[in-house]
Amino acid sequence: MSDLIIENGRIIDGTGKPAFEGSVLVRDGKVKAVGVVADKEASEAPVTKRIDAAGHTVMPGLIDTHCHLSFDDAGSNAEIFHQRRNALSALVAAYNARKLLRAGVTGLLDPDSTFENMTDLRDAIEANIVEGPRMSCGSYALITGVGGTAGRLINDEGTTGYYMAVNSKDEIVREVRRQIKYGADWIKVHVTGIIPRQAHKGELCVWTLDELKLLCDTAHELETPVMGHCRGAGATKRAAEAGFDLIFHATAMDDDALQAVVDRKIPIAPALTFQANMVDFGHKIGTADYLMKLFESEITDSIDTMTAAHKAGVPLLTGSEAGFSLVPYGDWHYREMEVFVKYFGLSPLEAIQCATQKSAIGLKMEGEVGVIAPGYRADIICVKGKVEEDIAALGDPDNIATVMIDGVEKDLSEPPERRPIPGWRLASIGETRLTRQVAFGPAQPPQPLIVEELH
Ligand SMILES: [Zn+2]
Repeated sequence: MSDLIIENGRIIDGTGKPAFEGSVLVRDGKVKAVGVVADKEASEAPVTKRIDAAGHTVMPGLIDTHCHLSFDDAGSNAEIFHQRRNALSALVAAYNARKLLRAGVTGLLDPDSTFENMTDLRDAIEANIVEGPRMSCGSYALITGVGGTAGRLINDEGTTGYYMAVNSKDEIVREVRRQIKYGADWIKVHVTGIIPRQAHKGELCVWTLDELKLLCDTAHELETPVMGHCRGAGATKRAAEAGFDLIFHATAMDDDALQAVVDRKIPIAPALTFQANMVDFGHKIGTADYLMKLFESEITDSIDTMTAAHKAGVPLLTGSEAGFSLVPYGDWHYREMEVFVKYFGLSPLEAIQCATQKSAIGLKMEGEVGVIAPGYRADIICVKGKVEEDIAALGDPDNIATVMIDGVEKDLSEPPERRPIPGWRLASIGETRLTRQVAFGPAQPPQPLIVEELH
C-alpha cells in the first residue's frame, strides 16, 4: 500500500500529551511517522493521498468498551429476550455499526450478545464483508441459577436473550470452553444480580469465590480474559481476587474492594453514560425525579473510589452501554469522557487517553491501537475544532471529517432511512393504566419506571 499523509492538523496522540501541530504519515496501514519527520519522509517517497486537516483535531479513533451491537436500541430486556431473531439481529447490527463509524468509533468491545451472534459480525467486519469498527466480543453472559439483572425473565437453565445460566461447576467449565471454541474473545460474567425480597438494596453477588476462581482458571488456561458486571463492594472484591481481567461498573466499592482492584491494577469500565443520560435528560423522556436522583447517586457514590483508583494507576476505560434506547448507537460514545471529567476530575486529555490508549485493553490490542505514534495501526479520526476544549463536538457526525481503520478511510455517509421490522419492538400500550380516576380525575404525575426491570 502506498503512503497517505494527514497534514496541517492539531494532533492529540492519545497518550495524554497536549495537542501539537503536525503531520501524520501512514504506510501499509500503520503510522510511519509523526510531525516534522512525517513531512520529511513524505517528501522522499511517493504520497498517493493527502488529507488536509486544517482546523481539525487528528486523534486516535474512539474505543467503546461496552457496546451491545445486537440489542438495537431496545426499550427493555423483554424486547431483547423475546422479539429478536438471530440472523436479522446480526444484519441490523451491521447497519448500526455504520453509525458508530460516523461517530468516530474505530473499535468496540461487545460484552454479550443475543444468540452470541456478534462473533459473526466481528468476523464479517474482519473479512471486509461489511464495514464497521474493529470488534472484540464476549458471547452469552454467564449467570448462576440465581439470575442476573433481569430477574425471573431469565430461564433457570440454558439461554435467554444474552444470558446463559450455569448451575454447577461442571457447567461452568463446559460453557467457558464452549464459548472459547466458538470464538469468544472474552468471557462475560454477571457477578451480581437482583433477587426479589432481598434484605438490602442494590445488587447481590450471586457467585461464590470458588466458582469465580474456577471460571477464571478455565478461561485463563485457554488464554482468554474474563470480564464481569459488578455492582457492589463484595462482588468487585471477589471478582478481583478470583482473577478477573476487566470489571464493569464497580460501583459502591468500599476500601477493601478498592484495594483489591488497585493491588492488581484491574481495568474498570464504569459505563456510567446510561446513568448520566438519565440524570441530564430524564426529564425529556418523562423519568420521575426520584429516579433521576437515584441514578445520579450511582455516579456520585463512586466519585471517591473512581478518583482514587485512577490516581493509583487503575486504567479507566470508556463504555457507553449503547444497545438500549437511552443510549442510541452513534449519539453518545464520547459521553463517558464527559462523565470522567465532570465527576472524576480527569482533565479532558486524560479522558481522551482513557477512550483511546487505555480502552485498547478492551480490544486486547494494547500497544497496537489507540495511539498516534510510529508502529501503531492507523486507526485515526479527524474532528473539526479543538476536541479537548469541547468533547461534545464528537457527538455531531458533521464534525467527523475522516475515520480510518488500518489506514483505510471509511464510508461516513448517512445510512438509508430505516423502516419498521414486523414484530421487532415490544408492543406497549403506555405506562399508565387507564383507571377511571386517570380518565376523569385531575392530572396524575407520570408513573415511575421500575428500577428492578432495568439493565
Ligand atoms: Zn451492558
